[in-house]
Amino acid sequence: MNDYVEKCLVSACLTGLSTRYDGKSKKNHSCMHCLQKTLWIPVCPEQLGGLPTPRPAASIIGGNGFDVLKGKAHVLDCNNNDVTSNFIQGAELVLSIAQSQKITTCYLKSRSPSCAINGNAGVTAALLIQQGIHVLEFD
Ligand code: SF4
Repeated sequence: MNDYVEKCLVSACLTGLSTRYDGKSKKNHSCMHCLQKTLWIPVCPEQLGGLPTPRPAASIIGGNGFDVLKGKAHVLDCNNNDVTSNFIQGAELVLSIAQSQKITTCYLKSRSPSCAINGNAGVTAALLIQQGIHVLEFD
């Protein structure tokens, strides 16, 4: 019997947790189906970065998540507050959870300044990709 169960990280909002900036969730049934035979851990980098829920919507100004990590772009919320350090802290905590749990695959939410992979990559996605972690995106 193979009792090895793959561990994964998943954007918390995709699992139905109400972690989004608007206080809502975005449960994705395809994602949950993919996670069926795994041991998954929900993470919300923006909450881990110390931001409240709900919170003002934020976006990356001047580039993408990779540029934020290089110090060449910033994350501003819709009230013009700079929340770059919150986003970087959240990304680093997600990475440290992945590394401590020997997790090599993360399932991330699209269209997010933290979690998006395609289009304008988010800060957490960029850090995970930089560290060689396999990332998959769901809407
Ligand atoms: Fe949190 Fe990422 Fe979902 Fe936004 S997209 S609520 S940062 S888990």
